[in-house]
Formats: sequence, structure tokens, C-alpha cells
Amino acid sequence: MLIVLLGPPAAGKGTQAERIVKYLSIPHISTGDILRQNIRENTELGKIALRYINKGDLVPDKVIIAEIKERLERTDCKDGALLDGFPRTLNQAKELDKLFTVDKVIDIKVDDHTLLKRVMSRQTCLKCGRSYASKDDGRCLCGGQLYTRADDTKEAFVNRLNNYHKLTLPITDYYAAQKKLISVDGKGDAQEVFENIKKHLNYNLVGKEG
Ligand code: AMP
Repeated sequence: MLIVLLGPPAAGKGTQAERIVKYLSIPHISTGDILRQNIRENTELGKIALRYINKGDLVPDKVIIAEIKERLERTDCKDGALLDGFPRTLNQAKELDKLFTVDKVIDIKVDDHTLLKRVMSRQTCLKCGRSYASKDDGRCLCGGQLYTRADDTKEAFVNRLNNYHKLTLPITDYYAAQKKLISVDGKGDAQEVFENIKKHLNYNLVGKEG
């Protein structure tokens, strides 16, 4: 079961991904987390990613597609995975279709004004990537230190949002035409949003009870 999670930056993809993978017992593959980890470890991929990520630009399709292919071919993905942050361009979506079968696409919808407000106060865990709307003690539940992502500045965020509208949004039409698209309102409380996603998943897939 291969599920794609779509949505603008700060729509709550990471938060929902955490719940969905627990519910469906599949691995969570976040391209943003992978790139940030590679930057921290100063790998070749990290060096390439650094040229784009902090400005809010997209990493070239070729680089990210190769990384996703390698991840999805690993044995822990034999029963499926949740892709968070990939695909982000129509070309990535088409290349993914050549390699694997996507079962469902969950699109989280949030308006731009709410996204900007969220991103300006967002803190992210250096260790596990979890993000918080606000947390005073500067520590994640996993014990990791919280920081402000370099691309969570207003300037980088506006660029990310523009890229989303221009490059990522057309993907929703592509998946809608394949009858795979599930759209959910992402503005409410995280648990409420998840309940809505779960309802759609149970209807569309052979999900578990609950
Ligand atoms: P995210 O954590 O999903 O917000 O991603 C952070 C950044 O990583 C993006 O703004 C891009 O610079 C890069 N990135 C993540 N996923 C992709 C992708 N599928 N294609 C290109 N760049 C990506």
C-alpha cells in the first residue's frame, strides 16, 4: 500500500504522517527529513540539498527521484510506505508512476494566511523532525533539541508557497483524474484532521477498525 501525502508547507503533513503510519503500520518516508539529515551529516546528497533547501527552492527532480527509488526498494517498504513531501512536481509524480503503484493520495488543504501564521511560530526537533506550534521548554518529547528551520523564515516560506502553487498543486488534478485523491480540511485540530483521514482510508482501503 503506497500512500502519498500532499499539502502546502506547514499544512501539518508531518503530524498527520506520524499518525497514519502508526495506524497502517507502514514506514514514513519524508523527503524533507531525509535531506535535512543528509545536510547534518554533510553527505554528497546533503551538499547538493544545501544549495536549494534554505532558500525554499526545490531540489532537482533527478536527485530526489533517485533517492526515493532507493528508499522504496528497501525491504521495510515491501508492504508499502507513506510518502511525505514527494512527489512535489508533475514530473516526479509521473516518474513515481513508472516505478511503483500509488494507491491513495491524501491532500491536506490549508489557506495561505493560516500557513504563514503557523510557520512563523513553528519549532522543529533536531533529532526526530517532529514540529510544534509552540513549546516553551525548547525540548521535543523524544528529548531532542528544538530549533527554527532555516527555511521557516518569511522570505523562504513565501518562495516555498509559490513553488507549491506553481509546481505541486497541479499534481492534485493528476491524481484526481486517476481517482486516487482524498482531500481533507487541515485547518482544525490535529486529531480531528486525522479522524477525517482515517474515515476516508477505511472507506477506500481495507483499513483496520478504530
Ligand atoms: P519539507 O520538509 O517537506 O517542507 O521539505 C523541505 C525542503 O526540502 C523543500 O522546501 C525542498 O527544498 C526540499 N524537498 C523536499 N522534498 C522535495 C521534493 N520532493 N522535491 C524537491 N525538493 C524537495
